[in-house]
Amino acid sequence: MRFAITNGSVFAGDRMPEGAAVVVAGARIEAIVRAADLDPAIERVDLAGATLAPGFIDVQVNGGGGALFNDDPSVETLRIIAAAHRRFGTTALLPTLISDSIPKIREAVQAVDAAIAAGVPGIAGIHIEGPFLNVERKGTHDANAIRALDDEGFAAITGLRHGKTLVTLAPEVNDAQRIAALRQRGVIIAAGHTNATFAQMERAFAAGVTGVTHLFNAMSQITPREPGVVGAALTDPACWCGIIVDGFHVDPVALRLAIKAKGSLDRFLLVSDAMPPVGHDSKAFDLNGETIVAAGGVCRRADGTLAGADLDMAAAVRNAAAMLGLTRGEAIRLATQNPAQFAGLDAEMGSIAPGLRANLVALDDGGQVLRTWIDGQEA
Ligand SMILES: [Zn+2]
Repeated sequence: MRFAITNGSVFAGDRMPEGAAVVVAGARIEAIVRAADLDPAIERVDLAGATLAPGFIDVQVNGGGGALFNDDPSVETLRIIAAAHRRFGTTALLPTLISDSIPKIREAVQAVDAAIAAGVPGIAGIHIEGPFLNVERKGTHDANAIRALDDEGFAAITGLRHGKTLVTLAPEVNDAQRIAALRQRGVIIAAGHTNATFAQMERAFAAGVTGVTHLFNAMSQITPREPGVVGAALTDPACWCGIIVDGFHVDPVALRLAIKAKGSLDRFLLVSDAMPPVGHDSKAFDLNGETIVAAGGVCRRADGTLAGADLDMAAAVRNAAAMLGLTRGEAIRLATQNPAQFAGLDAEMGSIAPGLRANLVALDDGGQVLRTWIDGQEA
């Protein structure tokens, strides 16, 4: 199958070449050419002026389409979640397991491996968020599940054979040598649900931590004599920062300040932290035996605590432009190129460039998703 996507504005890296067409051959992008130079016989998809962007990449997705990954870590659940998010432009995601038992982690890893082997569109690996966390910053995670990383846990979280593994852990309650060993095994490590001091974060970066999970939320803040995880994340130029831009998790002023502190957008990525209501009519779900309700764009427990987000990536991109004062191209980069680089997926996806997988999204002028392709296949 070979076709050309024409008559759109194409985001090719930071450039938007005028009158460009994208040629897709099989699962890959073959070329970006001038539309005028296209083979007259090639099949064409006319975008009628829409924007063609790389498909969104979301490294933190707890659920969607009514399903929560923790509830039933199976290929079928992954199919439901990926399909729900695809409607909002996400063409690759890391299903995210919230703190749970070691057998449940093994089950989740096996499900992701099986889904990737079966070619379920949109599954790029796994995000294991806990249980190796600091109970003082547990948020909605189950305190009873939280534990230190030991040999059994290490084996469970290094079991994935296909795709990428991202682990969120609290470095101050885990052994630095084990963290370094995880990094050596190719696991991407983010600090999160952590009360680390600035000095502990410096040691964590040295051990192989490369980012922080949901900057500002569930971590030690900047205070006058202890800059904490936030201070470390914003002053270490290499540290990636996942951000939830829904207007609820973090005040946009704090996010603007963070971007100013880092000096560029290069190390920020949008995440949805999505829960089952994304892409589904049912707005209530169960988490650790508690009912969570999504209303007014936010998921809360009965006591008002935030419990993940009712956010999709297309909305996150629109919010990033509107709330953080970014250009549309900058906002798209935070959902494509940047997460691809953070997750080590950039040789395969995250840009529109020859040789990469044909994971693409067409957006209208308002940032709504019109159509998507994964590996050259339209939904
Ligand atoms: Zn979290």
